[in-house]
Amino acid sequence: MVVGDIATGTEVLVVGAGPGGYVAAIRAAQNGLDTTLVDKEAYGGSCLNHGCIPSKAFISATDVAHDARNAEEMGVHADPVVDVAAMQDWKEGVVNQLTGGVEKLCKANGVNLVQGEATFVDDSSVRIAHGGEGQGSESINFEHAIIATGSRPIQVPGFEFTADPVWSSRDALAIDDAPDSLVVVGAGYIGMELSTVFAKLGVDVTVVEMLDGVLPGYEDDVSRVVKKRAEALGIEFNFGEAASGWEETENGIVVATENEDGEESTYDAEKVLVAVGRQPVSESLDPENAGVELTENGFIETDDQTRTNVENIFAVGDVAGEPMLAHKASKEGIVAAEVIAGEPAALDQQAVPAAVFTDPEIATVGMTEAEAEEAGFEPKVGQFPFRANGRSLTTGESEGFVRIVAEAQAGFILGAQIVGPEASELIAELALAVEMGATLEDVASTIHTHPTLAEAVMEAAENADDQAIHTLNR
Ligand code: FAD
Repeated sequence: MVVGDIATGTEVLVVGAGPGGYVAAIRAAQNGLDTTLVDKEAYGGSCLNHGCIPSKAFISATDVAHDARNAEEMGVHADPVVDVAAMQDWKEGVVNQLTGGVEKLCKANGVNLVQGEATFVDDSSVRIAHGGEGQGSESINFEHAIIATGSRPIQVPGFEFTADPVWSSRDALAIDDAPDSLVVVGAGYIGMELSTVFAKLGVDVTVVEMLDGVLPGYEDDVSRVVKKRAEALGIEFNFGEAASGWEETENGIVVATENEDGEESTYDAEKVLVAVGRQPVSESLDPENAGVELTENGFIETDDQTRTNVENIFAVGDVAGEPMLAHKASKEGIVAAEVIAGEPAALDQQAVPAAVFTDPEIATVGMTEAEAEEAGFEPKVGQFPFRANGRSLTTGESEGFVRIVAEAQAGFILGAQIVGPEASELIAELALAVEMGATLEDVASTIHTHPTLAEAVMEAAENADDQAIHTLNR
């Protein structure tokens, strides 16, 4: 303990108030444990302040304008203008409502809230440095700790986020005005979601990506639908190129890239957004003082109960590894709090859905057909196109499909891939199916409301058994 520190004690110390940490803290308090939650920045973490929520607010606002602008076929004629500063204010209002709600919920559940940066002293105490001149510090002794310190964007050498024309996703979501042109480095989910937002704001968007396609990790026929739509929005793609540098010009900046053969290309723009992935926030915690081991990439390895290599220390969310998703962080937070309370909780990685909020959306859960084969299953696949779904046609959004992968003998659902309207909502039914071990028959024989997009899920399940009504069965 540092001289002058105030020392307090807690049963459960949670470091980081993102969707991993605040959920863990609330559940620990609900379980009757004396719980302290510490964050150096804002309640809600990256997700509520600079990630999921701000990006989805921008996506919704720009969708409204884009859809109105493109509804002539429906007989609607409109030419809306997006006031970016007003959109920013509205987004901030949504963020403040949610972060304020997190603070209130924590307090109402009896969680002690501490503002400051935590570093481990040993495996039963941390030091909290309160930000700002003369703010002092305190030490907190704990019986159990849950590390939920999240992640930050990876920096590309030469593209440090200190200079204004070089944006991280956080900078891109803080704008009051849209640039005329933008180079986006990286065609992963954050790069693709934000490229779409800016293209819909009328910005001239150029994407450079080192790999040979968009959204690596998704099957070709899934990502192709999104790429085609992005190109229709005017987004220009340059694959097989790595960003190598930028410099200012009279009219803005020029971004240089290099391909495998060392050939250089250049792109003029007003700003450059770097979205090449995220890395864990772990080293600044001094985890070695507590004996917590990090992987080569700085992640904290955990077992399926979220326990680290140190018996009384748990890690949840982005800092504990892929998939870096808010709902995975929250589920792990709940598992950690329940394990500490003596309950037999564990995480089932198979049932973690993922969504990309591009136009159209992508959502997946469990295994693809190839992954099912690799895992030794004999897969059976059903697919249904949105163009054969009545509700899709009435919304004017009919690209894409629902695909369900099941195990051939008993029909247990192993996974699903959806690309199309409201994919992020539709995947919930199939995540439930994977989680509860439901079969194709369970989904196919459930009566789905008409006319809804969810009928496409039912018909994909029917199609696996050659029973779909509104498409020819394969
Ligand atoms: P975080 O939310 O990163 O929170 C970590 C907290 O720890 C922060 O508040 C930080 O201040 C605090 N902290 C760190 N170190 C210390 C310390 N030493 N002491 C005290 N406090 C500390 N995920 C989805 O599921 N869906 C989406 O649509 C989605 N969209 C995204 C869009 C963008 C642009 C970005 C950037 C991310 C998006 N994500 C999305 C990912 C999602 O934000 C993360 O997976 C999620 O926030 C991880 O939660 P977490 O609790 O692990 O960490």
